[in-house]
Amino acid sequence: MIIILKPGVSKKQETSVLREIRNLGYRPHIMRGVARTVIGAIGDELTHQSLEALTTLFPQAVESVMPVQKRCKLVCREAHPANSTIKVREHVIGGKKLHVMAGPCSVESEAQLLKTAEAVKAAGATILRGGAFKPRTSPYEFQGLGEKGLKLLSKARRETGLAVITELLSEAHAEIVAEHADIIQIGARNSQNFQLLIAAARTGKPILLKRGLSMRIEEWLLAGEYILAHENSNLMFCERGIRTFETYTRNTLDLGAIPIIKRESHCPIVIDPSQGVGRADLVAAMCKGAVAMGADALLIEVHPNPAEAWSDGPQQVSLEMFAELMRELGPLIQAAGRE
Ligand code: PEP
Ligand code: MN
Repeated sequence: MIIILKPGVSKKQETSVLREIRNLGYRPHIMRGVARTVIGAIGDELTHQSLEALTTLFPQAVESVMPVQKRCKLVCREAHPANSTIKVREHVIGGKKLHVMAGPCSVESEAQLLKTAEAVKAAGATILRGGAFKPRTSPYEFQGLGEKGLKLLSKARRETGLAVITELLSEAHAEIVAEHADIIQIGARNSQNFQLLIAAARTGKPILLKRGLSMRIEEWLLAGEYILAHENSNLMFCERGIRTFETYTRNTLDLGAIPIIKRESHCPIVIDPSQGVGRADLVAAMCKGAVAMGADALLIEVHPNPAEAWSDGPQQVSLEMFAELMRELGPLIQAAGRE
């Protein structure tokens, strides 16, 4: 950490600050400039108290305390300059091919899931999405089919060859979800549920980490850090819209996150336009923007009959809309240098 002292700090105040830094378990190095003094404090913040409190302990003497190293260590480009790629069955995410993950918001029935799986596969998707455990705002809304939904996802994989992504809601379900999923989704509402992140990491499965409803990019990167710090390097970030003052759309899809994540991290970035805008009529435009901006994959909600969906009806595209969207995306995917 770097501690910047205020101009004109007395020798006595400086000595007190140095004593406190040592008391907290750090080694101080003094650098005296013309106008002010800067102290470099060396120590491990995992085992020592943070030095940030120095500004409140010595308000007359300490101007600011800044970290030298970035707080993210493993998800950052510095740690791994090349792009990371993630193997999901026979597919590679983060490579040349842009993958489309598609399927219903929730698994509702065998007929609904299989019909959707076959249609999205025929249109070019490689991964089937579908929530078996659903995080619903109200306890009175459909909570998902649970284990029965997971089994239907496995059945759909057997019948279509599509890989499967589904959400993990609770540490208690980590094992069973890992048994049926090829990618584990951590939802927006749980993106800072650190024990859940650790449990998900320990399954060894690839993890798709959604951005929280009001999560800053640094917090998102740090949440991802939990996955890598627990020995699972198969992490992808997924932007799914953040909550802003705007009400025209369900959320505000922050496509700016694509180049930022690409710059800061080596992990692939996935865009979910469905939760992102909450409106089926805007999904295609958002997908096109995402492809142009360098997204590695898309996560799209598709339902055979959106009007009758048990969750997120207004944002799910029909099978026909999805096929049309995939046709429209083709030339854009090529123009973006992807396959
Ligand atoms: C979903 O993918 O259906 C979902 C609930 O996502 P999010 O966590 O982004 O709201
Ligand atoms: Mn949904």
